[in-house]
Amino acid sequence: MREFFQFNRTELEEFVTTELELPRYRVDQLFQWVYQKRVFDPESWTNIGKADRERLKNVFQFPTLDPKLRVRSIDGTRKYLFTVAEDEVESVMIKQPERMTLCVSSQVGCALGCKFCQTGTMGLKRHLSQGEILTQVFGVLVDSDLNFGDTFSNMVFMGMGEPFHNYEAVTRAISVLNDPHGLALSPRKITVSTAGLVPSIERFFKERVGANLAVSLNATTDEVRNEVMPINRKFPLEKLLGSLRNADLPPRKRITIEYVMLRGVNDSDDDLKRLPQLLRGIPCKVNLIPYNFNTGLGYECPEEGTLHKWQKELMRHNFVVTIRWSKGRDIDAACGQLVTKSAQKGRLREPSQVAANG
Ligand code: SF4
Repeated sequence: MREFFQFNRTELEEFVTTELELPRYRVDQLFQWVYQKRVFDPESWTNIGKADRERLKNVFQFPTLDPKLRVRSIDGTRKYLFTVAEDEVESVMIKQPERMTLCVSSQVGCALGCKFCQTGTMGLKRHLSQGEILTQVFGVLVDSDLNFGDTFSNMVFMGMGEPFHNYEAVTRAISVLNDPHGLALSPRKITVSTAGLVPSIERFFKERVGANLAVSLNATTDEVRNEVMPINRKFPLEKLLGSLRNADLPPRKRITIEYVMLRGVNDSDDDLKRLPQLLRGIPCKVNLIPYNFNTGLGYECPEEGTLHKWQKELMRHNFVVTIRWSKGRDIDAACGQLVTKSAQKGRLREPSQVAANG
């Protein structure tokens, strides 16, 4: 048996036409049943003849898409826990007034060890495959169909893991999500967030993946960035920002610079002076992210007044600046809070609590 979500379109075409000796149009039909209609039982694929349905049934298998746990925040954000192979990964459906955004994981744990991030404390267990990334997406979609009647319009790779450390699987998953016969999600609706793996950033632009790029910057000096994001020792600020400055972006496309604000670490007036200089010549917008104070890693969030001062000053330098208050803090689903139950026991609640939370 072959796992359906492991195929990209080219591979599926090859497999269906060569190995199964079925006509090419069956691939569009398969994509439509699975990715658009989310019907995973070949018996129900009514526009495919019985004999072909039988063959497909004996060839493809679909992973279990039921979340092991599901928790809903008071702000409407939902966190899911999926079991993939022997591991657990978390996905978050973030509720915003104007849209729902699905945040998925790309790895079990993370090797980069950013000091302010719970996932970083787990270390890297392994990369997720393309199929395991898609399992999260369709697991959340199926659950939403059944329980909430809503779906997502945007997607971000900001869950557990550094997506560019698992570049192949992430970009393959994006190609399936973009497929017009699949989810037909525009690349403009997908954002990949990186801590700054420069070769992958360059490759991402060169290959014109098309998704949006967010870069987690979080410091204005190498000294501080080395401390909070050890990856900076390998790819220091000048190299990282140089790769963004040289990016060949389509007109009006902007890179998102994320700046997690840490009191007394990266929020000084000198930082505020340096940041616009560092970003000069980079087509970007800035997200200021108040640190999630309850991660227990010893960092704190600055006063709200500091955030507004930064926003005002950066706007004076003509940047588009958003203060991104994290959603789902009460369920540990906000930025930097994802860490699985097996890594930190007792932090998730049972699915029954979804209903109780409204
Ligand atoms: S912030 Fe991102 S890259 Fe850094 S440790 Fe956490 S998951 Fe990894």
